[in-house]
Amino acid sequence: MARAESKDLLAEYKARRDFAKTPEPKAKREKAKGNSFVIQKHAATRTHFDFRLEKDGVLKSWAVTKGPSLDPSQKRLAVRTEDHPLEYGGFEGVIPKGEYGGGPVMIWDRGTWEPIGDPDEGLAKGDLKFRLHGDRLNGDFVLVRMKKDRTGGKRENWLLIKKRDEYAGDGSEPTEDFDTSVKSGRSMDQILTGDSAVWTSKKAQKKTPTRRKSAGTAKPRRKPAAR
Ligand code: MN
Repeated sequence: MARAESKDLLAEYKARRDFAKTPEPKAKREKAKGNSFVIQKHAATRTHFDFRLEKDGVLKSWAVTKGPSLDPSQKRLAVRTEDHPLEYGGFEGVIPKGEYGGGPVMIWDRGTWEPIGDPDEGLAKGDLKFRLHGDRLNGDFVLVRMKKDRTGGKRENWLLIKKRDEYAGDGSEPTEDFDTSVKSGRSMDQILTGDSAVWTSKKAQKKTPTRRKSAGTAKPRRKPAAR
């Protein structure tokens, strides 16, 4: 594998977006080495869960079409997507209609991850084992790359599978149990129709410390679900 540092890992992220039109973070590679993870529920053309692991200063990303399961018998399709900037892990808001991935984005879970074994080898081999420490997801998982199909699709198909441990449960579907943001408590509808400026870039926060309110359209917020 080519050295990750020598490539522009965010070139594809940049190419797909018009930052004059989308509120998503700009393609900035960080030097900081952390071990965060985030899962973003994203109601684009089809609702899916974007699963992102921080590595090499970016977020390695997969779109999990049905969302992660805690049932080890469930193998969830996870389509590898372009690396995202670390700042994306804090993004919750609305990508405008007509833009790439247009639709609301919710921070559904976040926390830290630890690789089990060598993560570079795991990614290269297509067998990445890791442990999550999130608000909603915990325990051991594996991402397994499937053999490339003969249609020569550009995207890699992986499977996200829960390992048996004390966090596993037959029929346990956290994406059905939790439908609000771990960051703001908002539902997808509230993110879509409400104040979309809860998330702002660090730069914007410095400039405008007060939260922007859309005049006249403020809706009473439901209490975040207690569960
Ligand atoms: Mn997505």
